[in-house]
Amino acid sequence: MQTHARAVIIGGGVVGASTLYHLAKIGWSDLLLIEQSELAAGSTWHAAGGMHTFNGEANISRLQKYTIDLYREIEALSGQSCGLHPNGGLMLAATAGELDSLKLICSRARYLGMETAMISLEEASRLNPLIDTSHFIGALWRADGGHCDPSGTTHAYVKAARQLGATVERFTRVLSLAQRADGSWDVVTDKGTVHAEHVVNCAGLWAREIGHMVGIELPVLAMEHHYLITEDIPELQGRAQEIVNTTDYAGEIYMRQERGGALIGTYEPHGVVWSPVKTPDDFSMQLLPDDFERLAPYFEVGFRHFPALGRAGIRKAINGPFTFAPDGNPLVGPVRGLRNFWVACAVMAGFSQGGGIGLVLSRWMAHDDPGQDILSMDVARFGAFATPRYTALKVPENYARRFRLAYPNEELPAARPLRRTPIYDRLLAAGAVMGANFGLEHALWFAAEGVERRETPTYRRSEAFEFIRAECQAVRGSVGLYETSNYGKYEVTGRGARAWLDRVFACRLPRPGRLALAPMLSPAGRIIGDLSIACLAEDRFMIVGSGFAEEFHLRWFCASAPPADAFVRSVSSTLTGVSIAGPRSRELLQRLVRDDLSPGAFRLFQLRQTAVGLAPAILTRAGFTGELGYEVWTTPDYFATLYDELWDAGRELGLAHFGGRALSSLRLEKAYGSFNKDFRPDYTAAETGLDRFVDFGKADFAGRDAALAERAAGPARRFVVMEVAAADADVIGYESILKDGVAVGYVTSGAYGHCVGASLAAGYVPSALAADGERFEIDILGEMRSAIVRRAPMYDPEGLRLRS
Ligand SMILES: Cc1cc2nc3c(=O)[nH]c(=O)nc-3n(C[C@H](O)[C@H](O)[C@H](O)COP(=O)(O)OP(=O)(O)OC[C@H]3O[C@@H](n4cnc5c(N)ncnc54)[C@H](O)[C@@H]3O)c2cc1C
Repeated sequence: MQTHARAVIIGGGVVGASTLYHLAKIGWSDLLLIEQSELAAGSTWHAAGGMHTFNGEANISRLQKYTIDLYREIEALSGQSCGLHPNGGLMLAATAGELDSLKLICSRARYLGMETAMISLEEASRLNPLIDTSHFIGALWRADGGHCDPSGTTHAYVKAARQLGATVERFTRVLSLAQRADGSWDVVTDKGTVHAEHVVNCAGLWAREIGHMVGIELPVLAMEHHYLITEDIPELQGRAQEIVNTTDYAGEIYMRQERGGALIGTYEPHGVVWSPVKTPDDFSMQLLPDDFERLAPYFEVGFRHFPALGRAGIRKAINGPFTFAPDGNPLVGPVRGLRNFWVACAVMAGFSQGGGIGLVLSRWMAHDDPGQDILSMDVARFGAFATPRYTALKVPENYARRFRLAYPNEELPAARPLRRTPIYDRLLAAGAVMGANFGLEHALWFAAEGVERRETPTYRRSEAFEFIRAECQAVRGSVGLYETSNYGKYEVTGRGARAWLDRVFACRLPRPGRLALAPMLSPAGRIIGDLSIACLAEDRFMIVGSGFAEEFHLRWFCASAPPADAFVRSVSSTLTGVSIAGPRSRELLQRLVRDDLSPGAFRLFQLRQTAVGLAPAILTRAGFTGELGYEVWTTPDYFATLYDELWDAGRELGLAHFGGRALSSLRLEKAYGSFNKDFRPDYTAAETGLDRFVDFGKADFAGRDAALAERAAGPARRFVVMEVAAADADVIGYESILKDGVAVGYVTSGAYGHCVGASLAAGYVPSALAADGERFEIDILGEMRSAIVRRAPMYDPEGLRLRS
């Protein structure tokens, strides 16, 4: 076996094979894939081979389309058939909520360029005559998708990679990994040691064990999964075309044609975890024992919805394990703190996603940039909170919901509450309905006293609507309190702190006593953060950003190589806070603070290190509501006392709680974008409008060249907020924005603006169409709604209240 490789890919399942192919295609030589058994011997060989473009996240949908389209390319290159059956897909709805979900998929598909349509049940039964349509109320058809041969596809990737010069060692087991001082790896196998610059963990069912070799605990777990193949079905004989692959949400069933019979699989509610602690070394090309007794009730639903399957005999039953991350999306990318170690695992839809994962990972390895926004599958979306127990609770929850629709207002209960701040119980007592962000509980909205704290999962406005309106009105009318502890917080200290931050962030750094809005750009000029930097002293800074992106930002900070005299650490768990916003916020805080808070003495973006009541605190004049407002930061030990004192001081001023949903409404009234939703690594400084915070005069900062080039050329598209003629549903995200019937952009977030009395949608449209008053249409749950660009914020366009 060779003793050196530029990259060793561990695992010859469909994901490792695709990664090998893409690295070879991008031009890397000296590539070695190491497989302990035969290729595809893990979870790949027994897969049902289904492929589709459906995903709640547009960028992953796009990568799924890429994957499906790629199969023809690797077939041509390798001469190996992928056994493609590109017969498209049908999704069936049995409830009004499911129907709304299909309409949303249709609206999103337009901009993604995917051929998709709502069709009648008669048309659905022409495409798949095995459906008993009496169980359903609507159907969606999509052209992309079908099924492939899992083993053929894996071999096609590998053959194509070999033709590009890559090497494969089968029946060779990686035993351990040791990092050298220069960041390269010794990959110790049972056939000798390979010295590799990079290592990629594509070990599927064994990804956890490979993680242990480098001292990390990846949040990945395998579940058992069953499908059945029937004997020949008379209704399918003599048809010119195969039936269309069909997903039945109500039955939690998928089915497709398999030769003259059918294949039917189920994601049952009480799934079984496989090998919870350690994956056996000798598990290769194996299946698990059937468990018909447990699964019969779920397959029986399928036999009712597709009666011909119930009449046919069962030819074969497959029960095999495959892996999931807690949220069902893959884990991809570099791991913070480990140089040249990459993961591509927890891939539960390898035949829909494997190609796209190989593509972005190869770009990331070659160019330090995945080339597109992949936040939703970035391994950095999990942090220390994703312990093995968390994973053990979340993965079965996700499995059980694999074919249930995820409603935008739904919060999943497993492994909660996990992280709680000292005011958690107080917020609950005040009626808070909680969500979880990076494992931390935070208030979404507050139910009035005596009202049941329940919200029906829906794509339309819910019972919470009126309560959110009251929260927004309280903020605009008097004063509101919002807990900000769920933001990501970092401290940067040391003599070298300022110089280093100056390189990492694109903004002008604030002087002591001030804060600045701080966009962070990738070298390609894309938005990788929209944070704020507070300068507490010449050598001490507090940075605040999105809570979900904590690990993501820490990884960027590490990659930006802080010098020996700059120290960066997360203070997310050691700094808690609230935002106090509204016209009476000054009056409230002045009751607890000795410093003079009058407009001339304490201006927007100034800060004080002071005491708020009994609590030592950092007080900043900032916020996200567009009102006069402040943020108060203190350590968790003082936090409950701070809250109690604020509350006592604010009660007679009309102080009210507000939650994350009200904040979304308030910020859109001011046309403020939000990282994760509106600002993501797909967009640039000028497209987002964050270029107004970029200090182009600085000699050096990450992304400078790209940002300057864009400034000269002008952005191709722009972030805008639109007023939408909506009825009982506001936009959710990724709906297509249409001009004269053509999709020209898509929505990034939306909310009802309670204080401007309008439904609001934020999104990107071509720059030439971004003028005030420009008219578009947005398909909201199957209804075309007119949308008008409002260039000025709809609330307080002059910013007078903010500066008051
Ligand atoms: C019953 C069933 C049906 C499914 N149906 C579908 C479907 O219809 N569509 C779909 O897209 N997906 C389906 N899947 C999921 C699909 O199988 C997975 O997404 C896919 O196989 C993941 O591939 P992988 O390469 O990540 O992992 P694996 O296939 O598990 O590959 C990992 C490889 O790493 C090797 N390895 C591990 N440790 C070492 C080591 N130390 N040294 C060397 N080699 C090592 C293993 O031997 C293995 O070959 C199904 C899964 C099951 C179980």
